[in-house]
Amino acid sequence: MLRWLWRSKQKEVLNLDDCVFCRIIKGDLPCRKVYEDEKVLVFEDLHPVAPVHVLIIPKEHIGSVMDLNVKNAQVLADMHLAAKNIAGKTGLDKEGFRLINNCGEGAGQTVNHLHYHMLGGRKLGAKIL
Ligand code: 5GP
Ligand code: ZN
Repeated sequence: MLRWLWRSKQKEVLNLDDCVFCRIIKGDLPCRKVYEDEKVLVFEDLHPVAPVHVLIIPKEHIGSVMDLNVKNAQVLADMHLAAKNIAGKTGLDKEGFRLINNCGEGAGQTVNHLHYHMLGGRKLGAKIL
């Protein structure tokens, strides 16, 4: 039991050190920040697929939607409110925008830290990512 606990703790620590978004939150990696509050950070995607393409992430490391639970799920509301705030400031509230979450490798999730892609600034077709 103790050995299992130690192993899973080690894995958690390694994951956080390896997580590119946690490193951005810590300031170890640079980003083009567009919004920040106590719970959420928003920054421009490195490889934008639309004129506006930002990533909305929780400051707490949550791997994906599958790691949400009743204790941490409030952050989803915080992330949506951040999107609303950005939309109001950029005019996307009027032209519309899209929030996308990829969950798991099969869905194309490449960074294992929960995030929404916020896309806008052009007509968005049915398929984006
Ligand atoms: P996913 O494929 O997991 O849904 O989305 C991950 C996104 O993170 C990709 O669109 C990718 O361009 C972006 N990304 C990966 N590494 C970095 C980084 O170091 N900085 C920024 N700004 N974006 C990143
Ligand atoms: Zn992380």
